[in-house]
Amino acid sequence: MTDTYLELVNSGLTKKIAQQLGLPRPARLRRYRPGQPLVDGPVLVLGSGADADALATLLSSPAGGPASPRPDAPVVLDGWDLDVHRHPAPDVRYAAVVLVLTDVAHPDDLTAPVLAAAATLKTLRPAARVVTVSRPALETDAPAVAAARQGVDAFLRSLAKELRAGGTGNGLVVAADVPVTAPSVVAGLRFLLSTRSAFVDGQLLEVDSDAGELPTDWDRPLAGKVAVVTGAARGIGAAIADVLARDGATVVAVDVPAAGEQLAAVANRVRGTALQLDVTADDAGERILEHARARHGRLDVVVHNAGITRDKLLANMSDDRWASVLAVNIAAQLRINEALLTSGDFADAPRVVALASTSGIAGNRGQTNYAASKGGVIGMVRATAPLLAPFGGTANAVAPGFIETEMTARIPAVTRQVARRLNSLQQGGLPVDVAEAVAFLASPAAGGIVGRTLRVCGQNMVGR
Ligand code: NAD
Repeated sequence: MTDTYLELVNSGLTKKIAQQLGLPRPARLRRYRPGQPLVDGPVLVLGSGADADALATLLSSPAGGPASPRPDAPVVLDGWDLDVHRHPAPDVRYAAVVLVLTDVAHPDDLTAPVLAAAATLKTLRPAARVVTVSRPALETDAPAVAAARQGVDAFLRSLAKELRAGGTGNGLVVAADVPVTAPSVVAGLRFLLSTRSAFVDGQLLEVDSDAGELPTDWDRPLAGKVAVVTGAARGIGAAIADVLARDGATVVAVDVPAAGEQLAAVANRVRGTALQLDVTADDAGERILEHARARHGRLDVVVHNAGITRDKLLANMSDDRWASVLAVNIAAQLRINEALLTSGDFADAPRVVALASTSGIAGNRGQTNYAASKGGVIGMVRATAPLLAPFGGTANAVAPGFIETEMTARIPAVTRQVARRLNSLQQGGLPVDVAEAVAFLASPAAGGIVGRTLRVCGQNMVGR
């Protein structure tokens, strides 16, 4: 579905009229293409201390590691060769600002880095990135430490609402004993700096452990992996199949027999295979595993994307509407996971990524059934992650906000116009935006992100 308003306010005469009338002007977001530069301009790394130094070194060093690594250097990461500044220089238009705030011990410690960032904001480049790296506020922290750390979260969410021209603000919240050079911090920082995270805004992504493995090729982080995507015949599922294949995975595309033709087209496009299957079938897990093993020799990633809506106010809810939504959106995922877990063949750093929804976090009128199922997904990944941990596996969820698909095209026109503007980026996301987040969580480098839910919602105003 095309967002005509976005096109109009970004082109020709209608752009000028919109400017004169002071109408909201959502920017055309920049999206990822392999080979694109990671960041389109200089990067400012703010913050004092060893963590800020380590990340500045990573960002600025040439590929192959720091130019002259000391023999005793603890970690030699493959550098990203960016133009990194440690203090804001006048007249420089930054493409990204990284605030490393892991050592704040009192709210006063935020003043210097935050005001240094403030000095850059008016001249940031289009589609700029602001990323905080901080520690979680814990009950066991000294009150001043917890105050400073919790302050970072709310600061970041507020700053994200002030950014313009497709700019986003997100944060990584790194568990106490995890170094900032851990694979999931490094890969998470790269994801948030890149155009892969175009529609991720105002989010704080927790990194729980130093597990995970960095890729040898950042453009093909899923090379050698076999991934199953359910509901892959169209919409977000088809985009997930495309992105996983682009990132190097072999894809098994699953959908109901009625969608067989579209499913075959997707499977052919990604040079994968198609499996016609209703995910609510009792033996869905066994059939998925059997197909992946027989056709591709293994199974590494399962993306639970198949989902349905049957919206009605609860007062008018029929048994069938309630039961069918719960059956497809969560019960099928639970049954498939159980089959995979008990098979013993899903045990080599497996990844489960499931599609939740912002409705499963904030609730939505007319969607009690859908919200219960999507809240269920969030609970399911939290409790499934520990079961996969012994094999180096993870389970995480992605919660999309308003995404332009056939599902949202069915919303009445006026409601749809309002819904797609209700976020900091003032537009709906595209299926590819959700797919990029799924691919990141499915990657070996995301092994330290465990049982979490990442929102892809442009900082939707509903919910947290
Ligand atoms: P869609 O309706 O366009 O596509 C869903 C696909 O799932 C279809 O191809 C359908 O045939 C398949 N499917 C449905 N039931 C199935 C079953 N029993 N077995 C196998 N396949 C089945 O939906 P979409 O917008 O692409 O959404 C994909 C996922 O993202 C869903 O889980 C949805 O709840 C979630 N989501 C979407 C949005 C959005 O704005 N579009 C927002 C939040 C969450």
